[in-house]
Amino acid sequence: MSLLKKASKTWLLLELVKGLSVTGRYLFQKKITVEYPEERTPLSPRFRGLHALRRYENGEERCIACKLCEAVCPAMAITIESEERDDGSRRTTRYDIDLSKCIFCGLCQEACPVDAIVETQVFEYGGEDRDCLFYDKQKLLEVGDRYEAQIARNIKADEPYR
Ligand code: SF4
Ligand code: SF4
Repeated sequence: MSLLKKASKTWLLLELVKGLSVTGRYLFQKKITVEYPEERTPLSPRFRGLHALRRYENGEERCIACKLCEAVCPAMAITIESEERDDGSRRTTRYDIDLSKCIFCGLCQEACPVDAIVETQVFEYGGEDRDCLFYDKQKLLEVGDRYEAQIARNIKADEPYR
């Protein structure tokens, strides 16, 4: 850019005028700012939030300890141990997800043959240390119990696309 062009741009405050024209253009348009947490935007049924372990209606755990979710997890965030019950069924004795490793890819949910491990629409969770982001089987089942209605609704809404 020539020196003369540069100088005229500076003295005529062209950049400032350009910036103000953008401000002016948006000044009278409909505001799109959302006043969170009072206002919320809609979430997709496929939203990948906090994990949960689900039960059947009779209270039995859905998870059959096939370990597909553990095998598919690219972040190696899932740890499962299992044993056979007296009735011959296999269930987990340990199911941990380290959310500080998780990248929320959703592969565990997709791999699960019985819709046991799912990602909910819950995103308001956190903690002050790493332990708070370590979810063991008990915590995951509690999340599942609390949000089962919402989870079931979202899975149903997603059925045509599966
Ligand atoms: S969402 Fe992805 S990274 Fe997180 S636990 Fe599931 S498979 Fe692993
Ligand atoms: S959560 Fe699903 S994929 Fe993972 S071990 Fe249980 S049944 Fe298998």
